[in-house]
Amino acid sequence: MVVYGELDAIARRLRRDARITVLTGAGISAASGVPTFRGAEGLWNEFRAEQLATLEAFARDPRLVWEWYDWRRQRIAACRPNAGHDVLAAWSRRFPHFTLITQNVDGLHERAGTRGVLRMHGSIWEVACWSGCAGSPARWTDEAVPLSEIPPRCIYCGGLIRPGVVWFGEALDPEIVGKCLEATRCDVFLTIGTSAVVHPAASLIEEARRRGAYTVEINLEPTPASAFVDVAVQGAAEQVLADIDRRLEQG
Ligand code: NAD
Ligand code: ZN
Repeated sequence: MVVYGELDAIARRLRRDARITVLTGAGISAASGVPTFRGAEGLWNEFRAEQLATLEAFARDPRLVWEWYDWRRQRIAACRPNAGHDVLAAWSRRFPHFTLITQNVDGLHERAGTRGVLRMHGSIWEVACWSGCAGSPARWTDEAVPLSEIPPRCIYCGGLIRPGVVWFGEALDPEIVGKCLEATRCDVFLTIGTSAVVHPAASLIEEARRRGAYTVEINLEPTPASAFVDVAVQGAAEQVLADIDRRLEQG
């Protein structure tokens, strides 16, 4: 249930000169039709994401893992950014000190026109050479849907390539982690549509709070973060964000 007084309070915090940081998870893209991993639709051929999005799974069966990524890329290509992505894109232009951190790999924030997105988990639209061959860049864009060959081949060495995403058990890019940590020094920190169980994403909320930010969660369900944020709004991201944005417009 959305308590409307809470939305007024949040809108009042979103002043033009405020430093605003937003962290999004799979929930922001749910209304676009991109399944979350933990929801009922997150299963693919009876596999869980944790059985497919790992180095070990890829080493064992690159074809299986690429079939899953090809399916996800096709699904995402058919999706459009929703009202939640659109509001955040508008805020990235409206507020001079605005940072968007996402755990999502779908590229929908970018397609909505959000500036300077920090992608903690990479992009499903990028690939890298599996063996890191000398001629190849660290990552490059490949938006072919569907893939012409599975598993796809490295255009530099002819060997295997891997999706440009961070798998379970892999380290995050330290440069991006550094920028995310820097962004926790803010006035308002919103965590939206993330289960807040995956670290270090979850610890960013705690860090923002420790540094004195006004912290807000928007999620369909309570999460471990609900207990310590200033306001936990229980509702759909696309609706709640549109409601807050309307309040900003009304000034
Ligand atoms: P998650 O699947 O664990 O959790 C999604 C959260 O969103 C849940 O807490 C759920 O209650 C909430 N939610 C669902 N619909 C919502 C809505 N309409 N409005 C508000 N909240 C809603 O996802 P996660 O915590 O982001 O972490 C899982 C990892 O899986 C991520 O790190 C990400 O890399 C990856 N992933 C990415 C995508 C994507 O790119 N769209 C999709 C699935 C998983
Ligand atoms: Zn190569």
